[in-house]
Amino acid sequence: MSQLLAEPAADQGSIPLAARIVDTLAHRIGKDEKAARPHDWLAATILTVRDEIIDRWMASTKAAHQAGAKRVYYLSLEFLIGRLLRDAISNLGANDAVREALASLGVDLAEIEEIEPDAALGNGGLGRLAACFMESLASLDLPAYGYGIRYVNGMFRQRIDDGFQLELPENWLAHGNPWEFERRESAYFVGFGGEVTATEEGTSHWSPAEAVEAVAVDTPVVGWRGKRVNTLRLWTARAFDPIRLDRFNAGDFQGALAGQLRAETLTRVLYPNDSTPAGQELRLRQEYFFSSASIQDIVRRHVQYFGDIRTLPEKAAIQLNDTHPAVSVAELMRLLVDHHDLTFDEAWDVTRATFGYTNHTLLPEALESWPLPLFERLLPRHMQLVYAINAKLLRGARAQGVDDHAISAISLIDEGGERRVRMANLAFAGSHSVNGVAALHTELMKSTVFADLHRVFPDRINNKTNGITPRRWLQQCNPGLTSLLRETIGDAFLDDAEALTALAPHAEDAAFRDRFAAVKRENKVALAQYLKDTMRLRLDPDAMFDVQIKRIHEYKRQLLNIIETVALYDQIRSHPERDWVPRVKLFAGKAASSYHNAKLIIKLANDVAKRVNADPAIGDLLKVVFVPNYNVSLAEKIIPAANLSEQISTAGMEASGTGNMKFAINGALTIGTLDGANIEIKDRVGDDNIFIFGLTADEVEQHRAAGWDRRATIDGSAELSQAVNAIASGVFSPDDPGRYKDLMGGLYDHDWFLVAADFDGYAACQRRVDDRWRDQPAWQAAAIRNVAQVGWFSSDRTIREYARDIWGVM
Ligand SMILES: *Cc1c(COP(=O)(O)O)cnc(C)c1O
Repeated sequence: MSQLLAEPAADQGSIPLAARIVDTLAHRIGKDEKAARPHDWLAATILTVRDEIIDRWMASTKAAHQAGAKRVYYLSLEFLIGRLLRDAISNLGANDAVREALASLGVDLAEIEEIEPDAALGNGGLGRLAACFMESLASLDLPAYGYGIRYVNGMFRQRIDDGFQLELPENWLAHGNPWEFERRESAYFVGFGGEVTATEEGTSHWSPAEAVEAVAVDTPVVGWRGKRVNTLRLWTARAFDPIRLDRFNAGDFQGALAGQLRAETLTRVLYPNDSTPAGQELRLRQEYFFSSASIQDIVRRHVQYFGDIRTLPEKAAIQLNDTHPAVSVAELMRLLVDHHDLTFDEAWDVTRATFGYTNHTLLPEALESWPLPLFERLLPRHMQLVYAINAKLLRGARAQGVDDHAISAISLIDEGGERRVRMANLAFAGSHSVNGVAALHTELMKSTVFADLHRVFPDRINNKTNGITPRRWLQQCNPGLTSLLRETIGDAFLDDAEALTALAPHAEDAAFRDRFAAVKRENKVALAQYLKDTMRLRLDPDAMFDVQIKRIHEYKRQLLNIIETVALYDQIRSHPERDWVPRVKLFAGKAASSYHNAKLIIKLANDVAKRVNADPAIGDLLKVVFVPNYNVSLAEKIIPAANLSEQISTAGMEASGTGNMKFAINGALTIGTLDGANIEIKDRVGDDNIFIFGLTADEVEQHRAAGWDRRATIDGSAELSQAVNAIASGVFSPDDPGRYKDLMGGLYDHDWFLVAADFDGYAACQRRVDDRWRDQPAWQAAAIRNVAQVGWFSSDRTIREYARDIWGVM
């Protein structure tokens, strides 16, 4: 491969790639060509590509060190990175070289790519954002580290069993992980519990009751064109004494290993079910574990390179991805005050200048807070520091004349009922920048959750609209469209996604529209083939592929889509003679294991699918599909094949969304509400190239405040009431007719997510979608305009804004 890259590694440049892969296979895997199975070829290919990356990795690290460059540290409890091989090969510009080398050995690159396990170290959008950001940071040649947890079993694997979600452990590390490097020299002591004593010098000393070792495991992140390789550093927990031999020898085998088990439990799974007190405590332990290890690592590096800890903000920018790492604020304060002898005020200035915080949600139930007794028991020194920070914060606010009501809203301690530590307030207070992830979301932050903090710190909140990396979400997942674009507008868009605007005039070119439509159809044929192989489904590639894939949550309103699907089904049955647009309704997504209604919505989608797909009166006019185990790799297959992108959250509830951006850049039209980044997509593609319906965020708030007649809303719509009644009465669940009674009852009772209130608008909008589809030239032109106008949603643009406005590194 090296021969094909800009700067070949000197010692390997002359050895053909195929020979290097065979050599790796022999010497690192222990197999010859004859005995090698696909997973052996995968490992040999990854290790060979990795060798290429390592030289660049070390060069990047060295260059940043020599330049004394400021580094960006991105702390996130989730990194939903997916598969890495295709990303690495593609960013190294070695697609053809690797494919041809493997072909000469009788191995199909696509086939081995497909067996690489998905690194599912995240739930959804927040974790995927962190992964896109890491890729963009490397592509923009910014020195950066991602810090997170190396979950042995990340997000659960979803199986659909008789229509119900089953959660199975994801064993992504079962056969090892050739991408990672354990760094035994980078290990830290992380303590929990115990007590704090005051020393004679007036300082504090924390003696934890227990401790684990955090060991760094590094994964290289290759930027576009292999320019730079950054590090994703994930922590794994170890016991200091893996085995207590005294206990073992006394016959207490379990007791001998208890410490190790306890340590390993820390980094076992992502988001343990927090409905039990034990689960909650584990979650807080995870957050502190990875925050502490990361902050210790950052402080150690700074002191080693630059000597004086007071210059930390000049050389390090730490971004908190949501509040999960917010305890880092208290951890840095602890290290500065207790270990580096700064005064509290000095430490506070350093801390605030170093941290930035990104908020991802306004949902009150998702705003993290910890019961004060739990926090105090686990982190007694941090509790003291939180009190001290709070005192300073509230003193300052009072000096500004803030009233009691606002004081209690600003406080780091929630005093209403059981006392709790508010992590969002801690992150806000401890950062010089607090950003939202789309324009609307940022405005709502100012007027809702952070209204009082915003009044005290009016310059702190800013907006950074999310983005996606166009390498993974266009070039790699949609090679057909990428070649067509290169032929049509040249290669500039590969380095600058905003150069896609050159495509706009081609929307008027009939020949180009046909070629564009042909690429989409090929992607649909490929997806149909995949679903035939994996689910034994037969889909018509000429039907409209209408797709809603994302975590299952009531605010995302899969239920609205399903009810409309039922209404459509009813209409098609009643009026088979009409000119219906054939549709495939495709759903995928995981529900949190403790989220009853979300799991019921999955079952409903499957029940509706079962009935509709088996109805001979419907044929290919309507098919409903729930694809199991939504993850990054599945998204990469589905999105390039989508015609219609469902982004239909209750306005004001989706902070940004990034799925919406992935679909648009792959030429799907959006049907959506004025929520999150949908609004900014609409502003760019124009009102005629997107389908907008429903209540605005303001109207949602007014509805909720003033109340409305739910029953009248449902009864007033014949289509809606028929569909709701059919579902409620068991038409789709004859085996358990009452299954959806409560779910439908909720629409009459509270309808918090305004499903019924938005139904008519949504259904009418879908008929406008049908009309446009019947006019294929108009549809294709609109799809082309979407591709042309959404390059702005590249995470390169987002990262440039963070770099300039928050981190000061550009
Ligand atoms: C992009 C992405 C998401 C986020 O999707 P939204 O529609 O923005 O909620 C979630 N999961 C995966 C696997 C993704 O790729």
